[in-house]
Amino acid sequence: MLDYVIRGATVFDGTGEAGTIADIGIKDGRIVAVGDVADTGSIELDAVGLMVMPGVIDPHTHYDAQLFWDPTASPSNLHGVTTIIGGNCGFTLAPVNSGDAGYISRMMAKVEGMPLVALEEGVPWNWESFGEYLGALEGNLGVNAGFLVGHCAIRRKVLGAERHSEVATDDEIKTMRALLADSLMSGGLGFSSSQSRTHSDGEGNPITSSFADEREMLAFCEEVSLHEGTTLEYITSGCLDSFSDDEIELMANMSKTANRPLNWNLLTVDSRTPEKIEHQLNASTVAAERGGRIIALSMPTLVPMNMSFRNHCALFLIPGWGEVMSLPVDERISKLRDPQVRATLNELARSKDAGVFRRLSGWGNYVIGDTFAAANKSFEWRDVDDIATELGKEPFDTLLDIVIADDLKTVIWPKPSDRDDASWALRAEVWQDPRVMVGGSDAGAHLDRMCGANYPTAFLGDCLRGRKLVPVEQAIRMMTSQPAELFGLTDRGVIREGAIADLMVFDPSTIASEPARLIEDLPGGSPRLFASSAGVVRVIIGGVETIVDGETTGALPGAILRSGRDTHTVTTA
Ligand SMILES: [Zn+2]
Repeated sequence: MLDYVIRGATVFDGTGEAGTIADIGIKDGRIVAVGDVADTGSIELDAVGLMVMPGVIDPHTHYDAQLFWDPTASPSNLHGVTTIIGGNCGFTLAPVNSGDAGYISRMMAKVEGMPLVALEEGVPWNWESFGEYLGALEGNLGVNAGFLVGHCAIRRKVLGAERHSEVATDDEIKTMRALLADSLMSGGLGFSSSQSRTHSDGEGNPITSSFADEREMLAFCEEVSLHEGTTLEYITSGCLDSFSDDEIELMANMSKTANRPLNWNLLTVDSRTPEKIEHQLNASTVAAERGGRIIALSMPTLVPMNMSFRNHCALFLIPGWGEVMSLPVDERISKLRDPQVRATLNELARSKDAGVFRRLSGWGNYVIGDTFAAANKSFEWRDVDDIATELGKEPFDTLLDIVIADDLKTVIWPKPSDRDDASWALRAEVWQDPRVMVGGSDAGAHLDRMCGANYPTAFLGDCLRGRKLVPVEQAIRMMTSQPAELFGLTDRGVIREGAIADLMVFDPSTIASEPARLIEDLPGGSPRLFASSAGVVRVIIGGVETIVDGETTGALPGAILRSGRDTHTVTTA
């Protein structure tokens, strides 16, 4: 008698092989049979007409805090994610001195867009060491979770506030390195850091890791090289646009020193600047020549940032708009009603002086997301252009009338400018480049501005019924065995006898993501964007159902993935 048998589905094993019709038998959390399974299971799932794949491994999330108040890592779980990697970009909640929880919270709120109240009310902060942090999560997880050890946490713990902006002494480096060693030995999956100019802490100072010199960075990498099943993640200013030679040099050196792959994000692909792609990927080529290995993460979906006329966003930065947008909401609304003011704002946004902000002035191109007034309901998920034509008004007036009716709360979505066919064709090429891996959702971060967590179902739907840019078995490989191999996750990311039974069963005719909507369910009542899925029939983690027909079961079979125990070493070779 088996625990669970899935019968008659098209099985994609995660390696990129085409699907075949088979049964899957599960016992004690592992797959024990693939093919014709004669044994019966305590649970039998008739999956004829459905597809089965390994559970998705999301390589770049910031669920470090959320897992305390939401152990299911929603909404990733609804989209077939069974394993998340956290602790990215140097931002971890451990190791930490007991007095520094406030500082770390304010930094996380600032750099990763998590409401401070949620971090204060939803996180217990009852640890100091990295091992204690992992222990606080263990046994209460609805997904598998592995965590890198973050540079900012280590540096803050050793250098404190006083030496935040200093270059570390040899002694300090020694102490920090010992702290990293201790964190890796207690299960950390590797080392992560940000030296990006765009990251500043809650006080507005550049984050402490940005003051580290090469000695310090390489000392951490040397330590990583000594620990089984570890890896590197790093972001720097050039990730956003274009790496400098120095940045490439350092990244290559880090990877070589650690003898581990280094992944960075996010490689964006735009057909108007194809040369940028090769420039960024050249970092991988240079690293390979030096004995390192650099992998760029790139998303299979477009993840826009939303905007509003109520909360600070790029619209507030349009030259000349500050005077109106900085007013209290009531006064802002009365100004925005004034035809004279509207004409001036529109002119300013379209003028040469607006510079890069000029692209925000294509008012017809915004999609109306969540609305709040009853009169606006019928406008949701429609283009402003479309609504303007129907109402016989100018697009800018149409948009402003809608947001004013909502007390400025309307969520508006700029249509990405890189949604053209040529950009999609380039993306399909890029995903298959060995220097690239699909990922970079940033799930768990920027909670009310963007939602990248839904990429698995969106990508599958696009491959099966949409643009069909890559065969579905390739898309599945990119989201399962490929990240499992990069992180050295033992027995995960594939369907075969002996592998851990982390699976998604889905309906190929309906698999998709719903649009992202605001829900107010964070500790303290703050809003976040949340996308449900369609066509997800089952998600199974370690043989236990966590999703049934798109709904969470509440089961908590997730494991903490510890380096050396659940991972094996992947070198640069
Ligand atoms: Zn990140």
